[in-house]
Amino acid sequence: MDYFLTPEQVMIRDLSRKIAVEKVTPVRAELDEKGEFPWEIMRLCGEAGLFGVSVPEEYGGFGGGVLENCLAVEELSRTCLGVSVSYAASSLGAYPIMLYGSPEQKRRYLPDIAKGKRLAAFGLTEADAGSDAGAIRTTALRQGDGYLLNGTKQWITNGGEAEIYTIIAMTDRSKGPRGASILIVEKGTPGFEFGKKENKMGIRASATRELIFRDCYVPRENLIGKEGMGFIVTMRTFDRTRPGVGAQGVGLAQGALDEAVRYAREREQFGKKIISFQAIQHMLADMATQVEAARALVYATARYIDQSKNPKEISKVSGMAKLFATDIAMKVTTDAVQIFGGYGYMREYPVEKMMRDAKILQIYEGTNQIQRNIIGLELNKEYAGKKP
Ligand SMILES: Cc1cc2nc3c(=O)[nH]c(=O)nc-3n(C[C@H](O)[C@H](O)[C@H](O)COP(=O)(O)OP(=O)(O)OC[C@H]3O[C@@H](n4cnc5c(N)ncnc54)[C@H](O)[C@@H]3O)c2cc1C
Repeated sequence: MDYFLTPEQVMIRDLSRKIAVEKVTPVRAELDEKGEFPWEIMRLCGEAGLFGVSVPEEYGGFGGGVLENCLAVEELSRTCLGVSVSYAASSLGAYPIMLYGSPEQKRRYLPDIAKGKRLAAFGLTEADAGSDAGAIRTTALRQGDGYLLNGTKQWITNGGEAEIYTIIAMTDRSKGPRGASILIVEKGTPGFEFGKKENKMGIRASATRELIFRDCYVPRENLIGKEGMGFIVTMRTFDRTRPGVGAQGVGLAQGALDEAVRYAREREQFGKKIISFQAIQHMLADMATQVEAARALVYATARYIDQSKNPKEISKVSGMAKLFATDIAMKVTTDAVQIFGGYGYMREYPVEKMMRDAKILQIYEGTNQIQRNIIGLELNKEYAGKKP
């Protein structure tokens, strides 16, 4: 369907598609098998300016918004989710700086992030604080003109590969969630180390590691916004990045649909192409309809966030885009394996990897149960006191 994208948006989409098809597809199985970080592809994305699509022009970016980011993410996800999440996690790490960073922080970090010279990452999750983010134990206690960071972050995408980390830590435990703050920590800072790389079910090209802070001194100038704003910055960041996770789902599901239609047109059983069986046609029809519906919701949400002056419904709709598109990705990739039959279960065919990759989309950046909680809460607020 034509979404009437601007010429600039079409350019971003086509450039991302070109890199995905020409450079990612040939190596995706090997990257997955070896669990190898896609540095060469990250370099190409950097040269093409893709890391800067949502970074303001004055900091060396393209000056686009959430939609531009979704378009790039969707195309990369269509061929390899491990590659696309490595790309997307850098903007997740950069968003707190873009939204609440001081002009000095923006000047210092955004131009390198926009060029892909340095990757970013975002560190919230801990061993005992996943959905319950308020339970984080990492502390950043004042020391001299800065903070002493202590604690361990778990499962951080781009951990070890990124150079710039936005970290949520408690600056005042007595204030509960209002005592959390967000700090920029650079790789190489004394007291900042990495744990082992996780061996994962899917998105194996991406790097997931622990971040370990032991008496790690962070200067006060690295505090984003003010003390106590940690969860506000986090929520406003997720509001803008969750449609991007939805775009990962749309791209991945589209990739699985592409493979399934091609296969169904070639595979013969009972002397006929399997696409001639109505049962297969109906499955493909449902898959295609679901992918288009997910894309329409993700694009509409991204446009709403980019164009509204006061997007009141942002948490609700970005949660909906993430929830719907990623549930669709799980379903469509599973159906694609079904259409391939036994061949779909084999590593030689790409749909096996796609189904493994899809699962994480329902888990990270807030599980899909948590998205339902957010949407339900917002609905309850919206209707409170409303006349019938
Ligand atoms: C590969 C990977 C990459 C990741 N990358 C990052 C990253 O870059 N940065 C980062 O900070 N984190 C990252 N994470 C962490 C991720 O965001 C968390 O795993 C996720 O938020 C869920 O937390 P949990 O795994 O601790 O699950 P839990 O919170 O323990 O949840 C377990 C189950 O209980 C459900 N549940 C929990 N609470 C509720 C509730 N109130 N209502 C209904 N159901 C509930 C959950 O939905 C889930 O099904 C990553 C995780 C993985 C696996």
